[in-house]
Amino acid sequence: MKILVINAGSSSLKYQLLDAESHDVLAKGLCERIGIDGHLKHTPGNGKAVFDEDVAMPTHAEGIQKVLELLVSADHGVIASTDEIGAVGHRVVHGGEKFAASTLIDDSVIQAIEDCIPLAPLHNPANITGIQACQKVMPGVPMVAVFDTAFHQTMPPKAYVYALPYEYYEKDAVRRYGFHGTSHRFVTAEAAKMLGKPLEELKLISCHLGNGSSIAAVKNGKCVDTTMGFTPLAGLPMGTRCGDVDPAILEYLMNKYSLSIGEMQNILNKKSGVLGVSGVSSDFRDLDEAAQGGNQRAALALEVFQYAVAKYIGSYAAAMGGADAVIFTAGVGENSGSTRMGACKDLGFMGIAIDPELNKKRGQALDISAPGATVRTLVIPTNEELMIAMDTAAIVSGQGA
Ligand code: ADP
Repeated sequence: MKILVINAGSSSLKYQLLDAESHDVLAKGLCERIGIDGHLKHTPGNGKAVFDEDVAMPTHAEGIQKVLELLVSADHGVIASTDEIGAVGHRVVHGGEKFAASTLIDDSVIQAIEDCIPLAPLHNPANITGIQACQKVMPGVPMVAVFDTAFHQTMPPKAYVYALPYEYYEKDAVRRYGFHGTSHRFVTAEAAKMLGKPLEELKLISCHLGNGSSIAAVKNGKCVDTTMGFTPLAGLPMGTRCGDVDPAILEYLMNKYSLSIGEMQNILNKKSGVLGVSGVSSDFRDLDEAAQGGNQRAALALEVFQYAVAKYIGSYAAAMGGADAVIFTAGVGENSGSTRMGACKDLGFMGIAIDPELNKKRGQALDISAPGATVRTLVIPTNEELMIAMDTAAIVSGQGA
């Protein structure tokens, strides 16, 4: 079955057309500047010409309409008719406590996603817009919502309850949710295949390290803890996000510099993380280069990041009573050997050891453990679009996700 995967932002929309059986990417692209003027880049997977032009997009619907035209066009197309698209899978950021799995979309599901808007005010409205735009231009085609939060719904209360007055959980839904669930689910399933053992018998620590970063402890196929929290600001330091900090710092700085809560939030989300510490960049490639050139703060930012990753790996081994493997994925996790080595250099005590030569390889799923390691270290390219397509195909064909 051919599945159109949609990841809608407020003014952009990423898409892929995938074959859920062969896993082939038939075409992919990006609509940008929706509601402003509009630009579309469409890349067919069959060698036909790339389309890269301004296209008027007052709303997401015009963008999707144009994508459908391109998918069947003589010059840029990959299918004969849009009837070949069996279903649409939508990435939805926040499913709150309502969704522990991917779900066929109907009006009540859209309402439930709307109910989660207070928990993800930037993302969920855009995701709903994407769903409704698809419904408008593809009436009758089944749609599935795949939630970033769903995989983490198996966490036990001791992992998701904050030590705040309990009524804030009961009345206001303030708890740890976790994000990147689709990625953690994909790479842990792949890890089980690589290790040749059932997922249900494995203790895995999944490190999704990209612009946004999170780690998940996955025991017997179920997430038992994760670093992101009520929002994706928590946990590891990230490109520009602070991760865990002492909450009292907010009041201290706000008083001292007469900052509004909005200004403070902006600092924590956009000016912190490795960018904030280094003063150089949020991009790990720039930081590597600067550190190699002798920039002390860039080196410190990398060290702060690697140290945080190491501490969470240790704490998640404690949470699960051991670990069979540590997985590195996403932009930094897949590509940065120095980050992997830096994070694992002091973890020999728990059986983690990386082979320096294997650690240099890139672009493929690989066991990079050194001989004698009792906990495997795996590099696994993530593929959230494929996971969404596979869930969508399974749900639409009645097999469940
Ligand atoms: P997002 O969270 O936006 O999906 P990605 O998973 O694409 O992010 O990761 C982006 C990050 O990956 C950037 O900080 C980038 O520097 C980093 N990255 C990509 N390639 C490399 C590399 N070769 N070495 C170090 N970092 C890399």
